[in-house]
Amino acid sequence: MEKKNIDWSSIGFGYIKTDKRYVSNYKNGAWDEGTLTDDANVVLSECAGVLQYAQTVFEGLKAYTTEDGRIVCFRPDLNASRMADSAKRLEMPAFPEDRFVKAVEETVRANAAYVPPYGSGATLYIRPYMFGSNPVIGVKPADEYQFRMFCTPVGPYFKGGAKPITIKVSDFDRAAPHGTGHIKAGLNYAMSLHAIVTAHQEGYDENMYLDAATRTKVEETGGANFIFVTKDGTVVTPKSNSILPSITRRSLMVVAEKYLGLKVEHREVYFDEVKDFAECGLCGTAAVISPVGKIVDHGKEICFPSGMEKMGPVIQKLYDTLTGIQMGRIEAPEGWIKEIKVD
Ligand SMILES: *Cc1c(COP(=O)(O)O)cnc(C)c1O
Repeated sequence: MEKKNIDWSSIGFGYIKTDKRYVSNYKNGAWDEGTLTDDANVVLSECAGVLQYAQTVFEGLKAYTTEDGRIVCFRPDLNASRMADSAKRLEMPAFPEDRFVKAVEETVRANAAYVPPYGSGATLYIRPYMFGSNPVIGVKPADEYQFRMFCTPVGPYFKGGAKPITIKVSDFDRAAPHGTGHIKAGLNYAMSLHAIVTAHQEGYDENMYLDAATRTKVEETGGANFIFVTKDGTVVTPKSNSILPSITRRSLMVVAEKYLGLKVEHREVYFDEVKDFAECGLCGTAAVISPVGKIVDHGKEICFPSGMEKMGPVIQKLYDTLTGIQMGRIEAPEGWIKEIKVD
């Protein structure tokens, strides 16, 4: 298979239209058989449920070319089950998890020419999503839904090395205690846009959200979970019912414990403790880990000992090990790597 003529190392994190995408429709209580299509446009009723009341959920995962030239995906079964959880919370019919994984395979295989080569630093980002598609004007769940999945090549997240970022403690809340913070819904992102635009205007890269009820505990950023490292090398990640359960974070916990022999703690983390940590990072599919050098709380700076030049040593090891597993350089735990055969 011949690769597309793309300058892999210079593309950013944007949308590049690929050849095929997967579509399945839900109607009269059942999903149809689903198909790949060339049509990148969605045509909807002006009154579609998603357009009126934001009934939509999504996922994000990647396909990689391994060192030995295979195309693989990382734990797509976890995206399938998380999307089913998200759908249930918004009164949407779950897309069957086995079919989700098959759709990932079909979509990536049909666009194999867009999977960036090993060593380019670029990857294929896969975006599954679903939305209420029939007209809804009284507030209620839609009766019909569309599930879609497209992919787009994305460039290396860190061009010229991962420089630590600076984040601010936000005055806005991301998620309420019994709200929708734990699901991957567009609505959580719509309401975070004002906070992130404001943070960028003030010169920060990201927001740290605290728990909405007491504003004393660390939650997450708009799209990534926190991981901290204590001075004696324990990896700590915040626990809360309103944090989105990051697959990267869950995987890093296993890597820390089983591959690096570190102690791991998944527990409530008070903001007061943050100043005592040695390292801090943000984790998610897009960057795997972004190192955090500084957190600013209303003018008060917390500067991590790892500094503003490079990742801290433990975070670097976590990053190298997980990306090694994803790229096939390090043996993966059972079931983490799904190979997509292309002929
Ligand atoms: C998607 C997402 C993450 C990261 O999850 P991954 O599964 O690691 O990509 C973290 N926080 C929020 C709010 C998210 O939407």
